[in-house]
Amino acid sequence: MLIVMKMDAAPEQVDGVVEKIESHGLKAHPIPGAQRTAIGITGNIGVVDRALFASMPGVLEVIRVSHPYKLVSREFKHQDTVVDIGGVRIGGPEFTVIAGPCSVESYEQTLRIARLVKAAGAQLLRGGAYKPRTSPYSFQGLGEEGLRILARVRAETGLPVVTEATDIDVLDAVVEYADAVQIGARNMQNYTLLKRVGRCARPVLLKRGMTATVTEMLLAAEYILDQGNGNVVLCERGIRTFTDHSRNTLDISAVPEVKRISHLPMITDPSHAAGERGKVVPLTRASVAVGADGVMVEVHDHPEEALSDGDQALLPEDFEHLMAAVRLLSPLVERGAPSLAVR
Ligand code: PEP
Ligand code: MN
Repeated sequence: MLIVMKMDAAPEQVDGVVEKIESHGLKAHPIPGAQRTAIGITGNIGVVDRALFASMPGVLEVIRVSHPYKLVSREFKHQDTVVDIGGVRIGGPEFTVIAGPCSVESYEQTLRIARLVKAAGAQLLRGGAYKPRTSPYSFQGLGEEGLRILARVRAETGLPVVTEATDIDVLDAVVEYADAVQIGARNMQNYTLLKRVGRCARPVLLKRGMTATVTEMLLAAEYILDQGNGNVVLCERGIRTFTDHSRNTLDISAVPEVKRISHLPMITDPSHAAGERGKVVPLTRASVAVGADGVMVEVHDHPEEALSDGDQALLPEDFEHLMAAVRLLSPLVERGAPSLAVR
């Protein structure tokens, strides 16, 4: 349920409604807007009686929210959410590019790649220290050593860092070293992890599960917001379909659908969708055109030696083409594009 306060409602009237909500054992989420304050209610198992609030002073209307998701919905918050990751904004006027290796393999490798993506215009660095691998015999990541490398590379290049927490056990370490916590596709429905990340002090990049519907993704984000962390960026990374010409199918239509329903920013990950580097630039173009707030892509200067996902890693020159495409297309959809870094 959503309670919309009158434009001239006094702060005490807002407090009065919040207290009444809490006195019924429910959670109140005041959402101050440019025009008026709205107060979302969560925590109810059954239907909440509208009459409890409808005649309270300062209340304009009481709206029943028909969707299962609440805090992530535009009904609860009309304005787009802009998420700040170490000073880089996602969901604002500018298209954001996150780039880096699939895995942190060494300090030298990470620094080289960070420098080259920064020089081409990337604003955020990606790189996995904890890797969720299909095979237990594949490279599992450098763990905490990888996090320390990412922090050193951030100090060297100034690029804020996004990296995955694969488990509750490693979440505190990721929060300590990274600027944003990535929750991977395989963990999109790990509700214990989602609740914990909802109580952490970092923005969250939540990737769509490979068989998750848009509703399921939004409900996963709802878990995080419900715990108090509103800084969530959604990521379409491709879903499993019957096609065998690409690793996954980038569900491009999920972007306008999520934007219609939700105020959260949404980026795409063309690398994990395509599974091969040749399709990453075209899918990035599609992502800009469809209205995504950014992309996350994998880049490697020696992909043939990469310890994970070498086939989909862009070469340095491919990444420059990607940035050129982003700069060319962004203004056509009335967005800014990242400028070239000063070398
Ligand atoms: C990744 O981005 O490193 C990753 C493992 O992606 P996904 O969770 O989408 O498979
Ligand atoms: Mn990867």
